[in-house]
Amino acid sequence: DLELSELDPDVHTAVTAELHRQQSTLEMIASENFAPSAVMQAQGSVLTNKYAEGYPGRRYYGGCEHVDVVEQLAIDRVKALFGAEAANVQPHSGAQANAAAMFALLDPGDTILGLDLAHGGHLTHGMRLNYSGKLYDVVAYHVRESDLCVDMEEVERLARQHRPKMIVAGWSAYSRQLDFAEFRRTADLVGAYLMVDMAHFAGLVAAGLHPSPVPYADVVTTTTHKTLGGPRGGVILSKAELAKKINSAVFPGQQGGPLEHVIAAKAVAFKVAATEEFRERQQRTLDGARVLADRLLADDVRDAGISVLTGGTQVHLVLVDLRNSTLDGQQAEDRLHRIGITVNRNAVPFDPRPPMVSSGLRIGTPALATRGFGTTEFREVADIIATALTDELTDDVAVELRDRVAALAAKFPLYPHLNGASV
Ligand code: PLP
Repeated sequence: DLELSELDPDVHTAVTAELHRQQSTLEMIASENFAPSAVMQAQGSVLTNKYAEGYPGRRYYGGCEHVDVVEQLAIDRVKALFGAEAANVQPHSGAQANAAAMFALLDPGDTILGLDLAHGGHLTHGMRLNYSGKLYDVVAYHVRESDLCVDMEEVERLARQHRPKMIVAGWSAYSRQLDFAEFRRTADLVGAYLMVDMAHFAGLVAAGLHPSPVPYADVVTTTTHKTLGGPRGGVILSKAELAKKINSAVFPGQQGGPLEHVIAAKAVAFKVAATEEFRERQQRTLDGARVLADRLLADDVRDAGISVLTGGTQVHLVLVDLRNSTLDGQQAEDRLHRIGITVNRNAVPFDPRPPMVSSGLRIGTPALATRGFGTTEFREVADIIATALTDELTDDVAVELRDRVAALAAKFPLYPHLNGASV
């Protein structure tokens, strides 16, 4: 049985290069994180070989006694972590968790009310080309032009007008906390289900540093790989009375065999997420985002026509507003890439530029907080970013900034045990 490096040098070389990229650059894509080695160990385990259609104790395959233990651990831990009545840990991804939750509670043609993609929503909240836009009748709510916060008056007006069967609260690009109680009140006004997609901020919720949607929502979906810091995957939490419908919507409704190796890794991640160390890391994540927002609101940045959407952040990311800058989202992303900082450009609400170019950057702190960054390091990162976006990025400036990035990366080595190992 050959090592990857021997059997497939092409793939091995690319994986090794990716390890080096992650180690030597600053990862600030808001939806990314670094999974602990124990999570990757579980994910790379022999559990990948096992078919286990069904649920613990009720499988359609033999030999499931050990994967049953693993899946039950994942279920029990995630329920305890979020105080949920029921949990399904099988969705392969966040998109599949959302598809299954909708499949469980809606019929094709039903109306859903979700946040517009262009205003920070996710594809699965009703985008035209997504399953959600094709299967359901979609009505979109927005952020207000005045303060760029979700307009709850519009949510209520649209709910009364269109009487959706489900209201979806949650976002991919938004820097404020949502008012879950108000969403619940609005859903109750029209007899709608409330689904909260907490994919982005689940880690903050687990740490008690963000309001929890669980007491308010009928169903809460999440990914496990963003602020939660686990393997790529999805989870559905729900009230007990919906558990049966949701389980059958995941399997056999949406998926075949669950990925038990990933479920094992989810179980490990939920164990980590219940620790004081995790809470402290989420605090550094939030502190880092605030430090970044403050720096990008300073006079020198404002003079360059650059600002921060909503004037700050309450979560793990900052949305940079380039609408009044000569720099567009693509150019800003490229500048940061050139000095070793990875972010993604993002359309901002009321964006005058086309989506492929856009007028925004989404910059997140979870991965660097996992690496060990605290306020001191985030101040330095923030200053590097501010300089890169405001000064002319000559070769000399780029070299200087790249050196500062390299120094930060070297201060907090990532996966050092993998260097020279057969990854
Ligand atoms: N929900 C939200 C709010 C997201 O931001 C994302 C991912 O970007 C997803 C769902 C989808 O997750 P996945 O990429 O695992 O399908």
